[in-house]
Amino acid sequence: MPNLAECIWCDFEMDGDKIDEHDAFCPNCNEGFNYHEEFEVMTKAQVVASFESFAFSDDLLLSEARQGFRDVPARSERWNNYVDSLNKDGFVTGWQAYNWTHPTTCD
Ligand SMILES: [Zn+2]
Repeated sequence: MPNLAECIWCDFEMDGDKIDEHDAFCPNCNEGFNYHEEFEVMTKAQVVASFESFAFSDDLLLSEARQGFRDVPARSERWNNYVDSLNKDGFVTGWQAYNWTHPTTCD
């Protein structure tokens, strides 16, 4: 049985036996390959759920109601700002912030 290890930054899987715990980089995202719990970051599903419950503030919904349509650029900008702020606070990596696409609520 292969010993599979999953990159906590991008979910890339590799052979755990080939990882030197102290000096390994993920071949997919180049972040330090570390699968210890204390370095855990948020998954995209968690970030999208939290974004959708907190980041659509009343002012955006009100302005959309006034305009009569969904303000896609404003929603996308909000998503970008939200992920950037999570990245600054260490909840998501730079790779995640750069590579994640908008959730469907921003389309
Ligand atoms: Zn990775």
